[in-house]
Amino acid sequence: MVEDTTRLLGLAGLAVVGVADGADGPVVDLVTADEQARRCPECGTRARRSKGRRVTRPRDLPVGGRRPALRWCKRRWRCDEPGCRRGSFTEAVAAAPARKRLTARLRAAAGAAVADAGRTVVQSARDHEVSWPVVAAALAVHADAVLPVQPQPVQVLGIDEIRRGRPKWVLDEATGAWQSTVDRWHVGFCDLSDGQGLLGQVEGRTAQVVADWLLARPPAWRDQVRYVAIDMCTIFKSAVERVLPHAQLVVDHFHLMQLANATVTEVRRRVTVQVRGRRGRKGNREWELRNRLTRNAARMRAEHVDDLQAELSALPARIGAPILAAWNAKEDLLDLLALARTDPNRERVAEMLYRFYRRCAHAGLPELERLATTRQVP
Ligand SMILES: [Zn+2]
Repeated sequence: MVEDTTRLLGLAGLAVVGVADGADGPVVDLVTADEQARRCPECGTRARRSKGRRVTRPRDLPVGGRRPALRWCKRRWRCDEPGCRRGSFTEAVAAAPARKRLTARLRAAAGAAVADAGRTVVQSARDHEVSWPVVAAALAVHADAVLPVQPQPVQVLGIDEIRRGRPKWVLDEATGAWQSTVDRWHVGFCDLSDGQGLLGQVEGRTAQVVADWLLARPPAWRDQVRYVAIDMCTIFKSAVERVLPHAQLVVDHFHLMQLANATVTEVRRRVTVQVRGRRGRKGNREWELRNRLTRNAARMRAEHVDDLQAELSALPARIGAPILAAWNAKEDLLDLLALARTDPNRERVAEMLYRFYRRCAHAGLPELERLATTRQVP
């Protein structure tokens, strides 16, 4: 019965757990029925620790001529991923997006009523019981979706994976379960130089998807692209090299930071195994410091940075010295990347770059040599 009600309501990712009679019509109790809602919107990691629950009341379209009141009991989660800036988040699904008080389909219907059914904004607002700015915004979204425009020229193009697609669901008749038919992975293209923002988003994450989108731009537009910022993923690399052979590939800052942190972790694990003959565990100081090692020192209190360096120096040299060298190289790289936002002169950039390379070269660690020879920032 409850499954039938879920099907009748048809909000993907939400399941009905009960329907009660309220003073103004039916009250529908909902819970989250999408595993993806547990993934951190910042880093995509599946959360393990719940922070409690919260009830939201998104407004929705009428069902059978009545407008049921939705009561969605959703969870709050903590993101434990080291290096992720997001401390906690609340579950969201595409049908009822985060921080929105209306369901996506109510918003879409309000916009479509104006664009496709000839209503005025005010009429649509009244029909859907929403404010007119909501309808105006929904109309703009609707228009953007149906009016494809070629983006303006772009000098620095960013290509990245986007984990929050709009899923589509079908009911599997045999098992009675809802299944996602649309790839949750999208590729986003954005303008990193002139502020046009997101230029396009396509489903899937294959080289062909990236190449197709680029090939759909006019040749003159493609010729203008000088740099393409990508993550470490080789799928994008091959597509860009094929379609934009003149453009220089660079790794964007966020992914360089991730790589630098991964390098510190790699060095820590290797020396622990080499010296202790096993993996790190409680009681090994370098293991206990693992999260602090991948934190940005610029965001730590000065005395904590001093403590961290002192603790590493106090470890047996064969463990402490390589980790300290890797940590220093990581911090050099972060300092260099932080410069990018301050409009520095070339000399200062060259100086910082030299410091980073010298550190990597002198440390004699294979991991740092690899980090230093990764594709460079422009
Ligand atoms: Zn996260």
